[in-house]
Amino acid sequence: MFDMGGTLVSFDVEHPGEIFQRALISLGISRSLAETKIAFLNAEKEAKDLNLLSSFGKMDREKYWNQWDALVLKYLGIAENVELARIVQSKWFDFVNFALYPEVKDVLMKLQQRGLKLGLISTGYEDGIHLILEKVNLEKATFDIIVGVDTIEKVKPDPDIFRYAIRKLNVRPEEAIFVGDSVEADYRGAKSAGLHALLIDRIEKQQSDLRTIKNLKEILSQIN
Ligand SMILES: [Mg+2]
Repeated sequence: MFDMGGTLVSFDVEHPGEIFQRALISLGISRSLAETKIAFLNAEKEAKDLNLLSSFGKMDREKYWNQWDALVLKYLGIAENVELARIVQSKWFDFVNFALYPEVKDVLMKLQQRGLKLGLISTGYEDGIHLILEKVNLEKATFDIIVGVDTIEKVKPDPDIFRYAIRKLNVRPEEAIFVGDSVEADYRGAKSAGLHALLIDRIEKQQSDLRTIKNLKEILSQIN
């Protein structure tokens, strides 16, 4: 099983604020990345107080993101934040370039040829996951299961989301490997549910004693 962003799919932003910047520029509004990052921090504080953050995955996707985007716009000092939030939300995926890492298709195909089941667990709404898979030309049907934040209203690293996926695949935790690029959400989350975990660290940013790979091809030699 795999995480999506940073594991199978790359995107050309380091911070979601960059997507905001691009969306705003298309509307004739200019804000620096530094300003946008501060707006994110303030929006996060308010979203916590409003219990918006805790409704991620539980609330309807558009409704959630409209509220979140309106908060960011408010902290960017943009008055018409509710209307603009709708526009930013609807154009969101037009301002990010997604791509599969070069080895992904080949590795997934080889794992399938070995008769293994494949799964995807991502911190996004199912609709959004499907949209991104479409953009990178990866068939939904490649995966025996796709789990988003709205599937059982749980978010990684909650062990329940991993347990749900393996139950659906009809495998025991020790028969499953989860590969992801986040130590907390992916590696520790999968471990806490009893799965094997592999950290993918393509640029060797983490110096850790966690079980780590640099390229998904390495999985092929780690599985019998
Ligand atoms: Mg990731």
